[in-house]
Amino acid sequence: MANAITLFELNTGARIPSVGLGTWQAEPGLVGAAVAAAVKIGYRHIDCAQIYGNEKEIHWPVRFKKGSVGFNPENFIQPDIPSTWKAMEALYDSGKARAIGVSNFSSKKLGDLLQVARVPPAVNQVECHPSWQQTKLREFCKSKGVHLSGYSPLGSPGTTWLKSDVLKHPILNMVAQKLGKTAAQVALLWGLQKGHSVLPKSTNVERIKENFDVFDWSIPDDLFAKFSEIEQARLLRGDSFVHETFGSYRTVEELWDGEI
Ligand code: NAP
Repeated sequence: MANAITLFELNTGARIPSVGLGTWQAEPGLVGAAVAAAVKIGYRHIDCAQIYGNEKEIHWPVRFKKGSVGFNPENFIQPDIPSTWKAMEALYDSGKARAIGVSNFSSKKLGDLLQVARVPPAVNQVECHPSWQQTKLREFCKSKGVHLSGYSPLGSPGTTWLKSDVLKHPILNMVAQKLGKTAAQVALLWGLQKGHSVLPKSTNVERIKENFDVFDWSIPDDLFAKFSEIEQARLLRGDSFVHETFGSYRTVEELWDGEI
């Protein structure tokens, strides 16, 4: 399609496919088949978990003692982001990674990294959906040439410990009804039209297909403008990375430098 938003160009010149497959909480027995189905459907961007040994990002700005398992706060230690980034730059220099990026970085943490980085991060992967639009961070990323990639683009409806009703929002459903699409498709195309890539997770072939069917239609301006009326709340607050004694962050405000 002539106007289809299929790729975004990164600051390295590499291009990132706009719709990627998320794999968080995809059960081990299902994830392989889901990835195979997604590749057949046309996905060329898979967001992998650390457990598969192929993660190229600084996932959260936190650090655990070597060998620790789980989220025991006593294992939190001070992250050294500049030296971690130097190791990432070496990966980039070696040609093993075409682009390197971070995840869950606030505008402040990204700004601090940009001050010391020889190779600026190409991507900051953060929570982003119509109910957490990342207005401030989006502007900052844009001004610095860092691509924003949106995780939980459907508001992570399957995560039982989150109170998520993003896909049920009346504005999203009104737009979906007017366009004859699903709320999920509208949430995803909203992201692409905002200028960020999206990483919907599914292990269901029909939904993997549905989530990729966002290239031959668009949300018209008048309906697109309605999204600015949606009340905003972060879903994944990172409470488990915060502790009154251990680690770097005493409060979630500190973790996100106030962007909460
Ligand atoms: P999400 O993609 O917003 O939502 C996934 C949930 O929505 C699953 O329960 C899925 O169930 C369901 N779903 C998928 N397509 C649907 C559709 N068309 N209609 C209705 N329901 C649908 O949530 P997420 O998994 O939290 O985020 C996506 C990906 O982002 C993750 O998998 C992971 O790769 C990445 N992520 C990264 C971080 C980080 O810290 N960097 C944090 C969170 C997530 P089915 O599988 O049954 O379809």
